[in-house]
Amino acid sequence: MKIHEFQAKEVFREYKVPVPRGGAVADVDAAARTAASLGKYPVVVKAQIHAGGRGKGGGVKLAQSSEEVKEHAGAILGMNLVTHQTGPEGKTVKKLLIEEGLDIAKELYLSLIVDRETANIMVIASEAGGVEIEEVAASTPEKIIKVQINPLLGIQPYHCRQAAFGLNLPKAAIKPFSSMLTQLYKLFVAYDCSLVEINPLVLTSDDNVIALDAKMDFDDNARFRHQDVVEKYRDLDEEDPLEVEASKYNLNYINMDGNVGNMVNGAGLAMAVMDTIKLAGAEPANFLDVGGGATAEMVENGFRIILSDEKVKGILINIFGGILRCDVLAEGVVAAARNMDVKVPVVVRMEGTNVEEGRRILKESGMKLFTAFDMKDAGEQVARIVG
Ligand code: GDP
Ligand code: MN
Repeated sequence: MKIHEFQAKEVFREYKVPVPRGGAVADVDAAARTAASLGKYPVVVKAQIHAGGRGKGGGVKLAQSSEEVKEHAGAILGMNLVTHQTGPEGKTVKKLLIEEGLDIAKELYLSLIVDRETANIMVIASEAGGVEIEEVAASTPEKIIKVQINPLLGIQPYHCRQAAFGLNLPKAAIKPFSSMLTQLYKLFVAYDCSLVEINPLVLTSDDNVIALDAKMDFDDNARFRHQDVVEKYRDLDEEDPLEVEASKYNLNYINMDGNVGNMVNGAGLAMAVMDTIKLAGAEPANFLDVGGGATAEMVENGFRIILSDEKVKGILINIFGGILRCDVLAEGVVAAARNMDVKVPVVVRMEGTNVEEGRRILKESGMKLFTAFDMKDAGEQVARIVG
């Protein structure tokens, strides 16, 4: 689960990680009031969406006066902000963060992630932070440093020094930086984060460090331990509506760009099905693993979600009946089809436990189905259907 910058900064404050003064607002008047309360200009007007690259996309503006705050706030609120992270469709801006403008000596990059390969928490840092960090990583990877922290030992002073030296920090900044990094590590563990990122981390001319930007991503597998965070910070407006719907039924569903809907049991098989669809020249509209132990009700909900996806022009169901029996799958599909108008062709490839019973249920349902004899055939049939 992602949260907004202003929310992440709230968490940072709680952990004494320095952030600029400011507040979130949802209209132009409140923006001007918050700016005035900061007591000086420039003030920064920042779009709050769950995506980075806002600066380059026109979602971060400096204002030198109350008039300029109103002007920028009016322009950014409600705008469809397109960044390299939102995709071409962009995201509508509904909230702003109004913050004091900082005096920036240098923009650094700092993040903590879970490194699956080493099972460590890894600090990534660079003295070449800011809006071009992707370019830095691509063309001068030696400017990115990594510090591994074994979670059983936790963060130690030498980790902080290693990061600080890698960032070429002036001597006076090492102490404030070390305490910031230590606090970030504590916060990362306490909240079961998968990512905490500060880009830029600002080095001020008086050798302090301040988190100018803040990004937090929570590990969804630990969500049950942080119900309070979910209640306080989850913003459903920022999530894909079909994915929100799927999460209600514990379905492993991800919405994608293509037009072939697909429903599969098992994540590996679902990946293979998406490959098969692409190999046949079409594009998957989603990933959906209904899981090994899915009930007819889960299948029904999964199928309903795919059917309600407007871009879907054909559906491929590939079930290898093991723990999830073919008849249970068939019942779920038929139940969903009974309540919804199935306007697109459905190709079914089914093998395994109770396959005859499953085929009979589908056949007697009166649904218009195409039967495939193997995966390759299924992919080719559905690709032909969607053109
Ligand atoms: P992002 O583009 O979505 O990552 O948004 P950021 O919060 O990182 O802002 C983008 C850029 O705007 C930063 O790298 C800064 O260069 C600039 N910026 C943001 N806040 C301030 C500020 O207080 N003062 C100045 N001078 N620049 C700022
Ligand atoms: Mn940033």
